[in-house]
Amino acid sequence: MSSRPDTHCLQEALDLRRRGSDEIANLQLTLLKRHLQHAGTLPFYRRIFQGADFNPNTITSLSDLAELPLTERKDIDDSPEAFTSTSVPAIADIALTSGTTGHPLVVPYTVHDLERLAFNEEVAFSSAGLGKNDRVLLTVTLDRCFIAGFAYFWGLVRLGVTAIRSGPGQPARQWQLIERLRPTALLGVPSFLLGLARWGTENGYNPRTAGIKTIITIGEPIRKADFTPTRLGQFLEDAWGAKVFSSYGVTELETAFGDCPSACGAHIHPEMMIVEIVDDHGRILPDGLPGEVVATPLGVEGLPLVRFRTGDIARVHTAPCSCGWNTARLGPIEGRLSQRLKYKGTTLYPGMIFHALQEIPGATDAYIEVRQSFDLSDEVTVVIGADEQGPDQRKVEDTLQAHLRVGPKVIFKNRSEVRARMHNDLDRKPRNFFDLRTESQTGS
Ligand SMILES: [Zn+2]
Repeated sequence: MSSRPDTHCLQEALDLRRRGSDEIANLQLTLLKRHLQHAGTLPFYRRIFQGADFNPNTITSLSDLAELPLTERKDIDDSPEAFTSTSVPAIADIALTSGTTGHPLVVPYTVHDLERLAFNEEVAFSSAGLGKNDRVLLTVTLDRCFIAGFAYFWGLVRLGVTAIRSGPGQPARQWQLIERLRPTALLGVPSFLLGLARWGTENGYNPRTAGIKTIITIGEPIRKADFTPTRLGQFLEDAWGAKVFSSYGVTELETAFGDCPSACGAHIHPEMMIVEIVDDHGRILPDGLPGEVVATPLGVEGLPLVRFRTGDIARVHTAPCSCGWNTARLGPIEGRLSQRLKYKGTTLYPGMIFHALQEIPGATDAYIEVRQSFDLSDEVTVVIGADEQGPDQRKVEDTLQAHLRVGPKVIFKNRSEVRARMHNDLDRKPRNFFDLRTESQTGS
């Protein structure tokens, strides 16, 4: 049974986003039925549909989806065999999740899933203004079972943009490529791309005249919930003199989001995704309120999930967007649900603390430790790595207080010691969050 969308045509996709919301919802209902029929071939969903007396063929509205329970990462982890079926076509590629919350999950992609994902990125890159005259330096990895780099590459190829598969690290080599191949856009992790600009300035290159007009980022937020840039986002834009767009993807969903040119969130691709925002009890929250992102990726074959809990916190906005698209937007990711901190009556996410630290020169090597306290508040300690001329403790505390309205404990340690704790070769990303509230630890 095919759950495929009817078309993967860029122009039709762009036209769809300008149509009325009723027309978009009608298309989504057709695609949702098809997706649920396919999901129902998996033992996990067959059981759920039977238990809820739910028939995908008889749904009449997108809101009927809410009759189904949420799917958690743990469900897949506990019984992967319940998420496989003979109705799934041959697997073309096996991706692994980053493993930031437990060990990596296996995510199968069919040929169609890879094509769909490439189309997904093609639409996102087109929205960021990239076109046939652009060349993009890809500073992310395309291997190590990492799907995002692969998706970016094929999205660029589909759009007719030239890809330069540089991969991560090695600023000297990156600058040689920039000088020789003259990319017009960069794609990578914001802190790396900022470091690349600074390395260039210190070594005789000028990032502002390098010809970079667009930067697409992954992995670290460059905007806050109110869409204003984080300090990191602002630094990045200033360093290269380029417009910065973030992208957000979830490997299990086989779908990704890219920032709108109006810098007010990432439009949800209507033919590829239904997104709900839920509270701690799984109840759907109104527009503009922060909650967990729950998504149903339409048209996926390999792992056709339904109402998958991402563990990420964000808001959905449905007000008309100045870019002219009529689809809902997902706001910046505000944090991970598992990393939510209760501190002195306030809800904090580690990202909010790191955004504040970006204001302070010399406070970039830092991690957070959280411990269980005897009252209802978590015990939050910000550990900053510093050399002899480190940032002033009072200034750090005042900055955190000003941004967060509460002041977590701040301690300084030797920079090399802090770096050693954060960098583990087995992790794809540096770890900056140590949760000691329970036996198990999670990292970010
Ligand atoms: Zn927009």
